[in-house]
Amino acid sequence: MTDVYQRLAKHLDNLPAGFPATESGVELRILKRLFTPEEAEMAMNLSMMPAPASDIAKRLDKTETQVETMLYQMSKKGLIMRMSKGGRTLYMAAQFVVGIWEYHVNDLDEGLIKDFNEYAPHLMEKSWLKTKTKQFRVVPIAKSLSAEVKVMPYEEAEKIIRDQKKIVVAPCICRREHEMVGKGCGKPMETCLVFGGGAYFYEENGMGRPISQEEAIGILHKGIDAGLVIQPGNAQKPVNICLCCGCCCQVLKNMKTLDEPAKAVSTSYYAAVNEENCIACGVCADRCQMDAIVIEDTAKIKLGRCIGCGLCVAVCEYDAMMLKEKELAEKYVPPKTIIDTYMTMAQERGLI
Ligand code: SF4
Ligand code: SF4
Ligand code: SF4
Repeated sequence: MTDVYQRLAKHLDNLPAGFPATESGVELRILKRLFTPEEAEMAMNLSMMPAPASDIAKRLDKTETQVETMLYQMSKKGLIMRMSKGGRTLYMAAQFVVGIWEYHVNDLDEGLIKDFNEYAPHLMEKSWLKTKTKQFRVVPIAKSLSAEVKVMPYEEAEKIIRDQKKIVVAPCICRREHEMVGKGCGKPMETCLVFGGGAYFYEENGMGRPISQEEAIGILHKGIDAGLVIQPGNAQKPVNICLCCGCCCQVLKNMKTLDEPAKAVSTSYYAAVNEENCIACGVCADRCQMDAIVIEDTAKIKLGRCIGCGLCVAVCEYDAMMLKEKELAEKYVPPKTIIDTYMTMAQERGLI
């Protein structure tokens, strides 16, 4: 019989975000670090459809109590997802990224960090870049938009936050893992905003702390001031907002290695220079997380690298940088909900 970790890897690869195999087997080393063989066996009984322990027990030769105890412990370890609905506890599979990896923000060690960083480029290349629909999108910072630009409500980070009843902030696993191995960038650490059901899961598992809308907006502004890109989950009603740097964020960092990251990012905007006003000071180029600006006689935008985040606009004191909207046909409209996002990703990967 195939090794339990190989079967679990296959199971995770059949979820929308994927978990592609490598020649080196680093992905199996990661699973061995996280799951016991029994936990690996149990995880394969879960799908992305939330189910009570009683349903899962029926699929197995075990009592409901045995199954419930194990599922609860696994959800506390961040190996699967747990939620409450109608007074009942439900369990579902967690994808590897975003999911199992992020749930380990508080129990990282050097071995896991090393294996993850070996695996992340492969995960990006064989999975993230293969689907047109991504798990994140980029929205512009409000300060970068002129009055003529028509912004959709789902593109306004503050509005997204104001629509939330439950918000938890968690440490950024990307900056934490880089800092733990001496490669930290010093940018703000407590920046991952999680909403709704995910927020309860984060709070109950001790991965984050509940905050008000005001505090969340304060975190957003602090992140923007530090030069972080706003990346909400890819839905009109996102369940999270990430504030990311191009040096640690595994998405942006790997995207940056591409010739044209703009083609792999969901965004409706791009930067443009008013050359008459530009004094070629280079402040915008230092701020850009994607190396999309070169300074010649004036600043020039490499459009293939620009992800429309607006950070460069906010730091230009000479009114020389602006954000423009893409043509209507090229504007990005996210799926309505995160469930739609995952269904679309699964279709694009030929899983359904
Ligand atoms: S995706 Fe962005 S905010 Fe989220 S953990 Fe990574 S760098 Fe931090
Ligand atoms: S910050 Fe403004 S003035 Fe300076 S190089 Fe960039 S666009 Fe030009
Ligand atoms: S040039 Fe850089 S900082 Fe400016 S919008 Fe594009 S990616 Fe963002």
